[in-house]
Amino acid sequence: ATPVSVMVGTGRAADLGVLFRRGDALQRLSDATVIAFDKTGTLTLGASDLTALTVAPGQDEGRVLAQIAAVEGASEHPLARAIVKAAKARGLTVPAATQVTALTGMGVRGVVDGAVVFVGAPRLMVQEGIDISALRQAADQIAASAQTPVFAVIDGMAVAVLGLSDPVKPNAAKTIAALKARGLRTALITGDAQSVADAVGASLGIDTVVAEVRPEGKVAALDDLRRAGDTLVFVGDGINDAPALAAADVGIAVGTGTDVAIETADVVLMSGDLAGVGTALNLSRATLRNIR
Ligand code: ADP
Ligand code: MG
Repeated sequence: ATPVSVMVGTGRAADLGVLFRRGDALQRLSDATVIAFDKTGTLTLGASDLTALTVAPGQDEGRVLAQIAAVEGASEHPLARAIVKAAKARGLTVPAATQVTALTGMGVRGVVDGAVVFVGAPRLMVQEGIDISALRQAADQIAASAQTPVFAVIDGMAVAVLGLSDPVKPNAAKTIAALKARGLRTALITGDAQSVADAVGASLGIDTVVAEVRPEGKVAALDDLRRAGDTLVFVGDGINDAPALAAADVGIAVGTGTDVAIETADVVLMSGDLAGVGTALNLSRATLRNIR
């Protein structure tokens, strides 16, 4: 591409809310064959609601939710915001948490009132060897209704399972349909539960769904999608998406996402509107057509 045509193309994109951080992404995007999306905050609003809460026998619901909200208060994950919001809506006093550590793509851990509080995905609990049998049935029910199950563990004991629902963005289906109409393959790669990923994938008509992967697993999933001659695009919003955004031929960050995602991406959708993916593709092809 000539420098002038790239400048014109990226300038028009910027007017439409699509920021090309690297000019050469315009050319690579015009060759795109596969578009893979993160789920939470990318295809979904990332504004979940707490829709279920089951505590283990003998546990006080309000106390447990307050302790969970204490560690989540330090997390910038969309699920964390929903949990804190729910605790506040119930008028609970949320204690302070210390030593909070994010377990990216898995959950969060911290110390509240001298107790170690762990909140996160079922696979995190399995990995940590936590006995979740008392809450298994409640968790299965949450997963079966396509909500995200999150376990809470206090001092090594599973005390609660929470269900969070996160609606898909209004124009997600239209965006996916338009990409497929152009002959692109589509994929969903998420750290969330398989049942939730399958439900979202099916509702949007996405070709390939990969679930329950950690940030490095997103890169491996991209590699699995790659066939000879492919140009892979990954669209994401979270810290957990940074490796995949870097590994893809073109990384596109949703502008409402985390700074880490935005700094890693080649292209940023300023508003978080998924229609920007189509806009970026249109402009890249139009620009390259004028040159070739
Ligand atoms: P996605 O890939 O769809 O953006 P993430 O990788 O951000 O999803 O999260 C994957 C899973 O990790 C979530 O579905 C949840 O189970 C768990 N998780 C991550 N962060 C948190 C947190 N702060 N609190 C509770 N669970 C979390
Ligand atoms: Mg995300």
